[in-house]
Amino acid sequence: MTLSPTLNADLHCHSVVSDGTQTPEWLAERAHANGVQLWALTDHDELDGIERAASAAAALGLPFLAGVEISVTWADKTVHIVGLGVDPAQPALIEGLRRTRGGREERAREMAQQLEAVGIPGAYEGALKYVGNPDLISRSHFARYLVEIGACTDIGDVFRRYLTEGKPGFVPHRWATLEQAVGWIVDAGGMAIIAHPARYGFTPQQEHTLFSTFRQLGGQGVEVVTCSHTPEEIQTYRQMALDFGLYASRGSDFHSPGESRLELGLLPPLPSGLTPVWQHLGHRIRMPEGAGAPVHSS
Ligand code: AMP
Ligand code: MN
Ligand code: MN
Ligand code: MN
Repeated sequence: MTLSPTLNADLHCHSVVSDGTQTPEWLAERAHANGVQLWALTDHDELDGIERAASAAAALGLPFLAGVEISVTWADKTVHIVGLGVDPAQPALIEGLRRTRGGREERAREMAQQLEAVGIPGAYEGALKYVGNPDLISRSHFARYLVEIGACTDIGDVFRRYLTEGKPGFVPHRWATLEQAVGWIVDAGGMAIIAHPARYGFTPQQEHTLFSTFRQLGGQGVEVVTCSHTPEEIQTYRQMALDFGLYASRGSDFHSPGESRLELGLLPPLPSGLTPVWQHLGHRIRMPEGAGAPVHSS
């Protein structure tokens, strides 16, 4: 099955199962309403929303890929690896993600202590009000609380002033290794994809090493179009995809209607000359009953 390169695919977003504000069902409806033709839910380090998302997508006639976004520590920085087309029942993946989530609670308490030291008490309890999954308290939940109490004007302001390296509320954390994340995804039948590469601030040399190591470990894709990439960065990662022989992905990284820069499905097309990830994931797409393929190439 060959799918069109111009398919409206949105293969990166978050629900309340991680740090989004909406349910998997809400996201399926919004994706469908916005004209998405192939959708994936990619919660951080968690697969619990997948069956709900798949059922909601099926009811709407929306082709769906099971996904996840794994937190990785590489070269002392956090890197995100998206897995698409994974089997959400695969035991090694489930166990790996469970271990990756571990430690978030303690980290959150340390974050709250640091915030208290700069005059913001009660941030742990405040962040918890926004948490949909007790295993997955994240910086996004703290950010929502800091906006709520007026300590910051918006989410971007929070990350500029708090919660990032060198700022109050930043607690370094060891996530999964790159090798583990790629291994779990590939063993679960999925494709591993480097998420939003422009966000990491690596030197060109480090980035080259990341891409080649990722490739050697069995990684196959890179997000070229995502909400945090400028038009210039889209061109940069188009070239990186070609240089490293990686398939190209496209995803809004949608978290919340009030916060996200891009709506589900309303993002630029992949630039020309790339092979989209969906051309190699056809066998992993969950089709609604009785439906044909989502938009064939002619
Ligand atoms: P954590 O997994 O707890 O480290 O939280 C990471 C999450 O924080 C990311 O997945 C984003 O949703 C959010 N985040 C990180 N940096 C920013 C930023 N500059 N602006 C908005 N959200 C951000
Ligand atoms: Mn997030
Ligand atoms: Mn991410
Ligand atoms: Mn994300």
